[in-house]
Amino acid sequence: MFDVMYKTDGIGLSAPQVGINVQLMVFNPVGERGEGEEIVLVNPRVNKYSNKMIPYEEGCLSFPGIHADVERPESVKIDARDINGARFSVSLSDLPARVFQHEFDHLQVFVL
Ligand SMILES: [Zn+2]
Repeated sequence: MFDVMYKTDGIGLSAPQVGINVQLMVFNPVGERGEGEEIVLVNPRVNKYSNKMIPYEEGCLSFPGIHADVERPESVKIDARDINGARFSVSLSDLPARVFQHEFDHLQVFVL
């Protein structure tokens, strides 16, 4: 999935977008192989959203060329499993939190 993400110049991708109906997402806020941190989240659940909302222009691999301002919480606290099934928690803010929430929406509605 990282292959598809980098090839399409994305910074995040959810499994349903590539036809896999599982609760899995990958992202790397830097968007370059070998740079930044590659994150894989399986069965992610949001534990907590920050009260502070910020707008940011988002695009989506499933809708190329369309960008819109979306207002979302600035930070999120997440419980998930890693690729080996081990539970972990992570707090994200700014761009990583943005990417997570965007991909999380794909997991909730199971649409492209
Ligand atoms: Zn998307």
